Amino acid sequence: MVNTTIKTTKSQEIFAAAQNLMPGGVSSPVRAFKSVGGQPIVFDRVKDAYIWDVDGNQYIDYVGTWGPAICGHAHPEVIAALHEALEKGTSFGAPSVLENVLAEMVIDAVPSIEMVRFVNSGTEACMAVLRLMRAFTNREKIIKFEGCYHGHADMFLVKAGSGVATLGLPDSPGVPKSATMNTLTAPYNDLEAVKALFAENPDEIAGVILEPVVGNAGFITPDAGFLEGLREITREHGALLVFDEVMTGFRIAYGGAQEKFGVTPDLTTLGKVIGGGLPVGAYGGRRDIMSMIAPAGPVYQAGTLSGNPLAMTAGIKTLELLQRPGTYEYLDKITQKLADGLLQIAQETGHPACGGHISAMFGLFFTCGPVHNYEDAKKSDMAKFGRFHRGMLERGVYLAPSQFEAGFTSLAHSEADIDQTLAVAREVLSSL
Ligand SMILES: *Cc1c(COP(=O)(O)O)cnc(C)c1O
Repeated sequence: MVNTTIKTTKSQEIFAAAQNLMPGGVSSPVRAFKSVGGQPIVFDRVKDAYIWDVDGNQYIDYVGTWGPAICGHAHPEVIAALHEALEKGTSFGAPSVLENVLAEMVIDAVPSIEMVRFVNSGTEACMAVLRLMRAFTNREKIIKFEGCYHGHADMFLVKAGSGVATLGLPDSPGVPKSATMNTLTAPYNDLEAVKALFAENPDEIAGVILEPVVGNAGFITPDAGFLEGLREITREHGALLVFDEVMTGFRIAYGGAQEKFGVTPDLTTLGKVIGGGLPVGAYGGRRDIMSMIAPAGPVYQAGTLSGNPLAMTAGIKTLELLQRPGTYEYLDKITQKLADGLLQIAQETGHPACGGHISAMFGLFFTCGPVHNYEDAKKSDMAKFGRFHRGMLERGVYLAPSQFEAGFTSLAHSEADIDQTLAVAREVLSSL
């Protein structure tokens, strides 16, 4: 079972060629292995909880195509629904009843959503929601949190760690200062910092956007009272509260973090799971706010492939599968077994570590913690994570190639997969 001498010759050949064809050889930078060392594995196919690479190696997958694969890869019912939809054509560029079906499912599930607009990615959803926040409040400034990711739009690419009450500095060349000067940042879980920003910028802040459970700075949970506090502060100041549930939506609970924590934002962004592995994003919220979107209202936002019939089909079937009894109980059970197991093994093998899980999302930091924000997360031992990642990979367990990513489980992960993963982790951690 345990294979420490995997051959990746074909992966290496293909990736070498890719580097000449595409920047860094990838279509998205998170897929590169920059922070863990070594080279990315080139995939051939995915099924259930597993990945096969082009050299024929099999891995237990905890990336799940970065979140969408919550029912397991290539679920037979999703594939069958897609086959049927495919026969009717790949794109209409016109209304279809599939949009109504998925819209109703999203509205029924997510407490804040009374109306929804479909787009093609989480990035697009966050861009659009920002425009809407500003239009609705007639204010330009927003607050985001250090370490939270809201897609790659200019306004959100603001350097983390620049400290409380500093104006945002662009995080990437090509992002003009003018695009980020209205993006204020605060440390996650720091209500006082948020209050200070509101006090310093009276009547200027359109709203606060956050990952209600962070997955893009590693796995970080909101402290008790944090989400409630943000709800109160934004209400007090006539600002909007936006939960970016692109990752958490339909993952940490069917209705997302807002269902799990009982805090209802004004607007919500979705993506990942609602596309069931096809490109979908969405944003939605209060009817009075959403009614401002064109063509109902003046706030422009459009998309040639938005509401695509194949993407809607995969989303509908995925949500149907998630509605079946016991799904979230199962996800929680196996993920708890994995997260607790990893922590215990780290402890037994003498590695300071902290982490946890909520439903099908988990994390492990190589620091004793606790981790409340991005600054805390950065104390994790990156070099150790890199060696851990490599050791797991060589023994058939595929983890996200960065300490600052959450891990994902699926309905297809069996207890045996978790046992196997923990056995491998014990071997790797013992050797570090
Ligand atoms: C993945 C992610 C996004 C961006 O979604 P894309 O589909 O990659 O554009 C935005 N916000 C959060 C919280 C995410 O996890």
